[in-house]
Amino acid sequence: MKKPLLIGLGVVAIGLAPFFVSADTGIKNQLAQIQQQALLLREQVRALAFENPVKASSASGKRWQVALQVGHWKLEGIPWELQRLYQSRQARGGGKIEWEVNLEIAQKTAALLEKEGIGVTLLPAVLPGVYKADVFVAIHADQNPLLPYASGFKAAASAYDQSGKAKQLAQLLNKEYRTATWLNQERYIPATMPYYYAFNWKKFLYAVHPTTPAAIIETGYLSNPRDRAILVTNPAMAAQGIAQAILKFLKENS
Ligand SMILES: [Zn+2]
Repeated sequence: MKKPLLIGLGVVAIGLAPFFVSADTGIKNQLAQIQQQALLLREQVRALAFENPVKASSASGKRWQVALQVGHWKLEGIPWELQRLYQSRQARGGGKIEWEVNLEIAQKTAALLEKEGIGVTLLPAVLPGVYKADVFVAIHADQNPLLPYASGFKAAASAYDQSGKAKQLAQLLNKEYRTATWLNQERYIPATMPYYYAFNWKKFLYAVHPTTPAAIIETGYLSNPRDRAILVTNPAMAAQGIAQAILKFLKENS
């Protein structure tokens, strides 16, 4: 009973085969065309984004515009793949999650800079586009499960810098943060710092504009009680270090 049905299906399948082959080639060609158009469109969007960057404009009319990126802040709205990527790196300690500590330091830094007449914008983990400012500093706190007693801070310049000033900014951050907090400066800089995603305008359309001097600071280890005495208990000291570095940077470049 079953055999004739199977044979019948086999004949139908053989009969349909040429149709599938030709449809397949047609779809392949169409896909290739769509892909070509998409790539072209992507390049056009890219060019437009760089020609019309989002500019830091908090308290517009100010001479200087500083952007402070709060590490891991406002991750709820972003695609889940990225959320997982960023959240896995987030430090915890002293009853705090990293973004809370970063936000507190950034707000206090902003208050200090605003007192000096500087416009400050606080940015979330995902930038609103290709972003242009006079200074960009990403603020983070550290944790290393492999080194539970690790202590200290470190700042690094963007590896994608075309302003020629990112290194100067990172040097000032290292110097002034040490003076303000008395924490040790770690000499080892992991590659994830200079190649930080928000610096990578070559790859992402949500990154600092290449002409914006950009640096990242790991303000200390949330896992270490000595560092937490600054980060959690006295964030004003951390803010003082970052604000002083930015003020000196702007002064040296005016
Ligand atoms: Zn972080």
